[in-house]
Amino acid sequence: MPNPVFDDGDQLAEVHAHLGGGVDAASMWELAHEQGIKVPFDDYWDFAAATNVHGGTAGLAGLDSVYQLTELIQSSPEAVFRSVYGMLAGGYRSQRITTHEVRFNPAKRNRGGERDLDAIVLAAAHAVDRAVLEYPIRAGIVLMMDRAFAPELNAAIVERAIRFRNRGVVGIDIGGPRPRGSAPPYRYSDLRPLVERARAAGLGVTLHAGEEGLGVADPSPYVDEMQQVVELGVDRIGHGIIAALDARLLARVAEAGIVLELCPTSNLRTGAVRDETQLAEVVFDLQSGGAQIVVATDGPEMIGTRLRQEHARLVRLGALTREQAREANARAHEVAFVKPLDWAAG
Ligand SMILES: [Zn+2]
Repeated sequence: MPNPVFDDGDQLAEVHAHLGGGVDAASMWELAHEQGIKVPFDDYWDFAAATNVHGGTAGLAGLDSVYQLTELIQSSPEAVFRSVYGMLAGGYRSQRITTHEVRFNPAKRNRGGERDLDAIVLAAAHAVDRAVLEYPIRAGIVLMMDRAFAPELNAAIVERAIRFRNRGVVGIDIGGPRPRGSAPPYRYSDLRPLVERARAAGLGVTLHAGEEGLGVADPSPYVDEMQQVVELGVDRIGHGIIAALDARLLARVAEAGIVLELCPTSNLRTGAVRDETQLAEVVFDLQSGGAQIVVATDGPEMIGTRLRQEHARLVRLGALTREQAREANARAHEVAFVKPLDWAAG
């Protein structure tokens, strides 16, 4: 069936995709066995079922437990190389993605410090080089901090991003569950020194915020989190859908020109939105409230989607017109942190 938004030859931009959710189950299974990693499944099909969330998850906590398995398997320089390369190459072949940013947390892939963080990041950078050589794409890495990490570990990740900024790393992010036992709001404003260091080094900043809280009685702690992120002066926000509930916050986002990276199917799978009707309302409200939106998968293999399907879903639901979906794709090319590599430009 032809895609209602894009022609086959249209070039797409994917700027919010996690490495832990971007590698197909067969490749992950092979990587696990090649490295002698004990996976808690005897049969491939049980493993495949456990590494995607097509049937939904127990909220974000459920998603996080799936990530823990994929992170374990990707915990070596070789596995990171193959995973990043596979996502970039496959993204071009399957979806014609020509602007592609892959994000991951290197400190969740070094077996608790056993592997060198630099070696992990360098492997990802090598994979970018190879993919850019083989396909007409521009690609970059976004290094992720974690909300549950100690400040020193997050600072170490930002230092890696800065060290490798001319070698494929284009930005920083934060994700993961909140520190054990802590209730929202997470204190994003504490990240200010790290955000400023990254920006001064020319890196882009996108932070996960405003993904949760649409279904709770009092969304104000989640609104507060996103407000803090807006005040940090970020370029983009991962999700940010809570702004649909708060006109003042949405106006601030629009005024600041902060880009919201929407991941529609992911929001349905994790229960961040109740159903397609709420999804459509949220996206419609964000768009008509003046927010700069882009459409992404969050990790096509784990979520069980494809980038072209994400745009098509929003058009089918009436959340965006076909023209608006195409504009969102053009915007994603523009706002990407990754710029064309000089040596690959010709
Ligand atoms: Zn995400």
